Amino acid sequence: MSTKILVVNTGSSSLKCSLFGMPEGLVLAVCDVERIGEEKSTLHFQSGGESAESPCRAGTHGEALEAVLRRLVEGNGLLLGNLEEIAAVGHRAVHGAEKISESVVVDEGVLEVIRENFPLAPLHNPPNLVGLEAAIERLPHAMQVAVFDTAFHESMPPRAFLYALPYELYEQHHVRRYGFHGTSHRHVAEVAARMLGMAPQECNLITLHLGNGCSATAVRGGRSVDTSMGMTPLEGLVMGTRCGDIDPSLPFVFSRNLDMSSDEIYDLLNRRSGLAGLSGVSNDMREVISAARDGNARAELALDVFCYRVVKYIGAYWAVLGRLDGVVFTAGIGENSPEIRARICGALEGIGLRLDERRNADTVGSAAVISAPDSRAAVLVVPTDEALKIAVDTYQVYLRTSDSPDPEAP
Ligand code: ADP
Repeated sequence: MSTKILVVNTGSSSLKCSLFGMPEGLVLAVCDVERIGEEKSTLHFQSGGESAESPCRAGTHGEALEAVLRRLVEGNGLLLGNLEEIAAVGHRAVHGAEKISESVVVDEGVLEVIRENFPLAPLHNPPNLVGLEAAIERLPHAMQVAVFDTAFHESMPPRAFLYALPYELYEQHHVRRYGFHGTSHRHVAEVAARMLGMAPQECNLITLHLGNGCSATAVRGGRSVDTSMGMTPLEGLVMGTRCGDIDPSLPFVFSRNLDMSSDEIYDLLNRRSGLAGLSGVSNDMREVISAARDGNARAELALDVFCYRVVKYIGAYWAVLGRLDGVVFTAGIGENSPEIRARICGALEGIGLRLDERRNADTVGSAAVISAPDSRAAVLVVPTDEALKIAVDTYQVYLRTSDSPDPEAP
């Protein structure tokens, strides 16, 4: 019988859960609650061919988790006979700072790490903690495992993670680059190495997570050696509503010349910039592409700035890695937009990156090598699957730390 692992991803007003059967990695059900804390919360449920949406009462994340668990044991016990069958819960955790470099069993120390990093990830760590506490309370028998977004990037060397600021700021206040999307970068790097017939520890890759949030990572031998997001997820590439790299003096200019408060500047850089701010059309890449096709000049400009920034990071990381085996596109834009991939790779032809046009055009949402045979490095599309990766990590931690026998052991 397979081991049931529940993967929980807690947002500020949402709870996304997937029930996996391991070690097969089968998704048995996906159950999400949206608009937690509002009068009308909604529960989405998907399992096999069934898909349903229903209103539910979820004033808190705890109530939302209860609604999910109730739904999972409904249906004649086909998914779960009872909650005791959930062996472990894998939590997506965002900011573990320097304290955590791998997936860990949650104990008081891990909860404290999440708590003490509230200032570094004010939008993510507080809901993470609430989700964890809710799961500990409702599923006390299950092992709770935290899989941190920052963990993969803990292998970055100081030259990549330090800002050129007074060193005391790093020592006393932990000011440094941490990086995010680590679970996604790690997953696609492993899959890409397999697709290239290489062992991860001998494969050098640039992984591009291009979704609402966007980040690039230089992966040497399976380990992150540099990444574009920084102490917060604002640095680096152009994103849906985030500006990415800017002149660090701009906030002072806005404050002094435009009389903006720090909250207004935070909002401007995080919620009103990026594709949305440049195009004036949308933060959604599909809409920006469509407006550009219709001749909207600012939408075209937004695409140009977006792609140019990615090109610069690929160039920089290629130099960092020296030898490059592959460039990997993932997440909503990376997996689904042949047009954006063609714009980015087209600008890199001068240094030898060449796409196979047909393969690029044919690859939408699936894994494929899309480069031409004479390309200096392979170009790949690998769909990201953070929930599966969290399930796999959680299962491995569960096998390592529980007394349960490994069902796959000979
Ligand atoms: P999140 O970071 O919220 O998980 P996703 O990885 O789902 O986001 O990516 C969302 C982005 O992917 C949006 O900008 C969306 O427009 C874009 N996207 C999805 N499908 C396509 C497509 N076919 N062409 C271009 N962009 C797409």
